[in-house]
Amino acid sequence: MSAILSPVRLYNPIRNQIFRCSFGSQLNRVVPSLTRLVGSPSPSLTRIVSQSTSNSSMSSEKEAALAASSTIPDSPTIFDKILNKEIPANVVYEDDKVLAFRDINPQAPVHILIIPKVKDGLSRLAKAEERHMEILGRLLHTAKVIAKQEGLEDGFRIVINDGPKGCQSVYHIHVHLLGGRQMEWPAG
Ligand code: AMP
Repeated sequence: MSAILSPVRLYNPIRNQIFRCSFGSQLNRVVPSLTRLVGSPSPSLTRIVSQSTSNSSMSSEKEAALAASSTIPDSPTIFDKILNKEIPANVVYEDDKVLAFRDINPQAPVHILIIPKVKDGLSRLAKAEERHMEILGRLLHTAKVIAKQEGLEDGFRIVINDGPKGCQSVYHIHVHLLGGRQMEWPAG
């Protein structure tokens, strides 16, 4: 996988979903995530649908599949299993509204995910409505509380990936809290 240097599209048939990711760390991040989601590294389950380069063309079939992938079902995710304690997580913070745990595939010395306990339709930020303002604010405030708890006095980064082009892989809204190293800009 590390030899792939151009953007790729990954298909997860379990969720009928296509991910489009750039080369490098994002691809290396998404493939293990998909593998965990489907429970098997089988190429029939998680496969590269296409590897696009600037001069390659996508078939209309694949364009249609990609377009369809923006209609993402609001179905349970692996985070529900963590919330229900069906699978373990390294929890660093919990209150009645949010849960925070260490990312299984950390991209920095500190990499924590902060999620709402009740999804309430917030599979992704693009689904946010006015009623979600309290929980969205709480997720960010919790990030600041945990950053202090983790000793990130010199700064940290907050990331919310949204949808296929944002390289989101788990459709239960979550805030990434990254720290413990110098961040770079622009983000990939
Ligand atoms: P995103 O790609 O923004 O949807 O982020 C999903 C994150 O969830 C990725 O960084 C994954 O590494 C992380 N992840 C997936 N499964 C687990 C798990 N069981 N425990 C902790 N983190 C997970």
